[in-house]
Amino acid sequence: MLLKTKESLIRRMYLVDVAKGLAITIKNFFFAPKITIQYPEERRKYSDRFRGQHYIKATNGVENCTACMLCPTVCPAECIHIVAGERPDKEKYPVQFEIDILRCCFCGMCEEACPKDAIKLSTIYEMSTESRDVYDRSFLMEQRGNK
Ligand code: SF4
Ligand code: SF4
Repeated sequence: MLLKTKESLIRRMYLVDVAKGLAITIKNFFFAPKITIQYPEERRKYSDRFRGQHYIKATNGVENCTACMLCPTVCPAECIHIVAGERPDKEKYPVQFEIDILRCCFCGMCEEACPKDAIKLSTIYEMSTESRDVYDRSFLMEQRGNK
C-alpha cells in the first residue's frame, strides 16, 4: 500500500518525465551534430542553381543583351525596366536596364526567357539594403565579375 502511494507520488510529480526530458536535452547539447552556421566567418555552400543577385553577361566586354524585351515581358513582378537604343557596334542595346530588386521574387524566369544568355542570376545572396534598391545597367554589368 505504502509502495503504491510512493509510486503514484513520483508519477504525480512528473519526476520520470522530467528526467526523460533532461536526458534528451543533455544528449542534444553534447552529442547532436552542429547545424548552426557561424556567419559571416562560416558560409553555407549553396547549389550552383541558387538564384541570387542578377548580373548582365558580356562577351569581349560587350553586353550580350540586345534589348529584345523578352525578360520584362515574362517577369511576373514587372520589376525589369529597359530602354532600348542603337549604337555603331550594335543595332540594339539597353541604354537603360533596371531591376527593382525589392519587387523581384527570384523566380529566374528572366534568365530562362533570355535568348542571348544575357541576364543571369548569380549565387550571391548578400543583398541586404536599408533603402529601396534598383539595380541599374552599370551595376548589373559590374556584377558579372563576381560570378
Ligand atoms: S527573377 Fe523573376 S521576378 Fe526577378 S527579375 Fe527575373 S523574372 Fe522578374
Ligand atoms: S536580357 Fe535577354 S531577354 Fe532581356 S532584353 Fe536583354 S536579350 Fe532580351
